[in-house]
Order: sequence, then C-alpha cells, then structure tokens
Amino acid sequence: MNNNHLNLILEGTVANKGIAFGKIAFIKRTNAGLQKEYVEDTQKECDRFEKARLHAISQLATLYEASIEKLGEQNAVVFQIHQMMLDDPDYVSSINKLITDEHANAEYAVTVVAHKFEKQFLQMDNDYMKGRAADVIDISRRVKEILMMHAGKLQHHGIDYKNDGPVIIAADDLVPSETVQLDQTSVTAIVTTEGSDRSHTAIFARTMGLPTIVAVGKNFTSKYEGLFAIVDGNSGKIYIDPDESTITRFKEIKKTDDSQKSHLEEFRGKITVTRSGRKINLYANSGSLADIDLIKASDAEGIGLFRSEYIFMQAHDYPTEDYQLDIYKNVLEQMEGKKVIIRTLDIGADKTAEYFMLKPEDNPAMGVRAIRLCLQNKAIFKTQLRALYRASVYGNLSIMVPLITSVEEVLETKKIIQEVKTELKQQNLAFNDNVEFGIMIETPAAALISDELAKVVDFFSIGTNDLTQFTLAADRQNADLTKYLNPYHHAVVRLIEMTIQNAHACGIWVGICGELASDEKFLGKLIQLQVDEMSVVPSSVLTLRAKIASLG
Ligand code: PEP
Ligand code: MG
Repeated sequence: MNNNHLNLILEGTVANKGIAFGKIAFIKRTNAGLQKEYVEDTQKECDRFEKARLHAISQLATLYEASIEKLGEQNAVVFQIHQMMLDDPDYVSSINKLITDEHANAEYAVTVVAHKFEKQFLQMDNDYMKGRAADVIDISRRVKEILMMHAGKLQHHGIDYKNDGPVIIAADDLVPSETVQLDQTSVTAIVTTEGSDRSHTAIFARTMGLPTIVAVGKNFTSKYEGLFAIVDGNSGKIYIDPDESTITRFKEIKKTDDSQKSHLEEFRGKITVTRSGRKINLYANSGSLADIDLIKASDAEGIGLFRSEYIFMQAHDYPTEDYQLDIYKNVLEQMEGKKVIIRTLDIGADKTAEYFMLKPEDNPAMGVRAIRLCLQNKAIFKTQLRALYRASVYGNLSIMVPLITSVEEVLETKKIIQEVKTELKQQNLAFNDNVEFGIMIETPAAALISDELAKVVDFFSIGTNDLTQFTLAADRQNADLTKYLNPYHHAVVRLIEMTIQNAHACGIWVGICGELASDEKFLGKLIQLQVDEMSVVPSSVLTLRAKIASLG
C-alpha cells in the first residue's frame, strides 16, 4: 500500500489502444432460472424454446437495423450472422434433444448446449474461431432471457451496470450485442478477464474507439467494483486504485496521446509522400475478412498482404473454389478498387490445418511449406489460383507467392497460372488477364538472386519476419532467441538494400510487408533505401503517413 491506495497493476492483451480513466463497473448478469428442472410435457417445452428462438431472431433483426448507423454495415452484419446461428440445425436440434431426452427445462438445455458449442470453438486452434465462442454465448443468453421474460421471471432485457460518471466496463467476457449497447457517453474503456483480441467484441470496441484490454485473468474480480482505475491500452495494463502521482503521469500521457491523435487526423484521406514529394504506397496487412473494417477505418491505401492461409486454417476441409471465390470477391469489393495483394497459401511450420495431414518434420519452418507444398499438391494450388483469377474481375487484385528460393519455382508457378487461364477461357469464366504477379523475398536465397527474379515477376514484397529468421538462423517461434532475431542486423539490412536495388534496376516496384515495415525506428532507413510500398498493421497507418511526410 502507498498513501492508502491499492496501486494494483494487472496485465492482459491489448484489443484496442488508448488511455482511459473511470470507476470499475462489473456487468451484472442474472443466473436465476438456470437450474435444471423436470418438465413433464417435453413437446410443450420444445415449443417454448421455439417461440423464444423466433422472438430472438426478430430482436436481432431490429438490432441489426439500429446498429448500421452506429457501427457501419460491415460490423452490424454480425447480428445477421447471429440470426443465422439461431437457425443452425445442429444448435437447434441439440437443444430439442436435451429437452426431450432429459425432460429438462428449455433455459437449462440452452445453457448446456451453449457451453458445449463454446468449448468446441475455444478448442479450435485459431484465434478467429476462438472469437466465435462469444457469439454462441451471446445468442444463447438472448434466448434464455426471452424464455425467462415469457415466464415472467425477468423484467428487462439487456445489460446492467451502474451508470454514474465515467466507467470502465468489466466482465468475464462481453458478447457483441452487449458491447454495441454500451453507453458511449459514460463508458470509457473495457476490461475482460477472458476473451480474444480477434473477437467481434474486440472489433466493435476498436470501431467504437474504446480502449480495451482482454484476457486479464481471474485476479481481476468484482471485489474491485467501484474503484477508480486507469486503463493503459498501450501497454495492456490496468492500474486499480492508483496513487496521485500515477494518475498525474497518465493524465499527461493522455494529453500527449490526444493531441497526437488529432494531429494525425490531418493525414486522413491524404496520399503518403515524403518531404521531397516521393510517393509511397502505404497499405495494411490483413489476416482475415474480419480485418477489413479495421483496414478501411485505418485509411490504408490498399492491402499489401492478405494472408490467405487463414481461410484454410479456419476450415475443416479443403476450401472449395467457390468458397474461396466468395471470400476473395468480398475483400476486393469491400476495398472498392484499392489494390489488394493476396498471398497464396503459406501453410506449414506454425500455420497448420489438420486435414492437410502434414508429415511431422524436424525443421518445419524449413520444410514442406508455402510454395513448396503448393507445387507438390498442384490440385490445391490450382483451386486457389482459379478462385483468385475468377475473383480478379471484382477489384484491383495482385497475387504474390511466399517462400521463393529459385527462379524455377517462379516459372513453374507461372506455368500453372497459364493453365488456369486457359481452362477458365475454355469454360467461359471471366477473369482479368493482367493481374500483377509478385513474389515474397523472405529467404536469403531470394534476396541474393533478386536480380534474376526481378526479370520474371512484376513486383517484390520483402517479408522481413522470415528473412530475419533465415538470415540469422534464429527460429522466430523460439522466445529464447529474441535477441538473435534482430531485423536491424547488417546482414538483413544489406539483403533488403540489395533486393530494392535489383528490383529498381529491372524496373519493378518493391514493397515490404514484414513487421519491420511498421517499425518507426526503421522508417528513415526504408525511405532512404527508396522502398516503393509498405504494408503495416492498420493502427500504424496514420502515424507512419505523418512520419513519412517529415522524412526523405
Ligand atoms: C514475413 O515473413 O515477413 C511475412 C510477412 O510473412 P509471415 O509473417 O506471414 O510469415
Ligand atoms: Mg513469411
């Protein structure tokens, strides 16, 4: 204790940056009516569930309409997804079965099935699907509340928190419909003990501009209800009952943050140019469709790296051509003519999907992955390329291939592309004949022969994450090797320089899409090296545009 203040600091994962102050207010949820009760007439109970389910669907339709203005169509669409989830035959029949088999009350059956589905989502090995766990809890809570309301056990629908002055909303996890209903005149931040930074809740919080920290852990309990706290969404820390000097320090930081932010807004809608007037294309990286709203809000001039493997990682079986086509078309349409560089499948190493049944390897990062896997499984590669080319008529698509180490791999890929084009022509399926074709420079081999590679492609994109790991022989997955994974190492910088010079000598453009592109400390060097394009995390776009304007 210090000056009778608790001065407790807890830490979680940043879901949205920013500093906020307020009293901690835990969301109160009622557990009444959730005990298992014996029901004699199971058909009548199934009918009760059906009535509540339909009522929930109609509520969600209203919520969707109301949210379009607040969150934008792209975000509000989650409430349409919720309507579809409530129609999911598996979900509906599981509840009816439990009611019938166990003579259970509908509230109980909904709770049990919700947790079963939640668990399944949480066990999936990608963050996006983990984020769906909150959605199934959200729809189930809605149905339960309606069931209880119909039974006269619950008078209101919605969330309950004390609304007196600036509050930091606290909960185990928030569901999207709770997030969107938060009163932004009093809520300053969100802190949850669980949750993922990829969930819809996190996306909504970012859109609503609320500093948010998730996965703080069980130490954050309701015993801190009502205490003043500071949320530092820059470091992921929450300061509970801080002393005066901490408060003063954060007030200063917030002041600087706010004035920097309003200064950055001047750069929205502008092109990115250096002091001497050289244009840089400032794009953003995307992991999945869920990132597109963020990217649009970031004012990026395009997508410099769309990691298509996430589509494969989220699927339970090889995604079909039509399934992929829908996703690529959607991204291209949403980006409204801005450049979208989709990277072909980079599965293997840390990114896996069970149905690929990849053989265990001693060194998977240097194993059968990315372009190697695609060239060994031509049918999978062709399906993706067909989907990409068919999508190419819906926007401004470029395609790039990962982990290239030789000219032969590029030529073989181009041959497959030619086959794809011939087939599409024969089938009378439309495509753009002039899709830009590039490769990632992320192996020392590719950088060293970039003069040869530049002759056979339209552009390069330097992947500094892998380039650093392979140049310095330091596994990027191994936390004990962090000090070796130095992207500023002269060896890495020389390879970057060599790649840019060779690209320019051959008249092609060169970008950088590894994490180093978002590093403000390295920006001056990149500008000096005459890089043409940078693809960064969405939240860095305006900061980098402002900085670039003062450099070179
Ligand atoms: C890279 O290696 O720098 C890159 C951008 O690709 P990924 O991080 O997806 O391997
Ligand atoms: Mg890579």
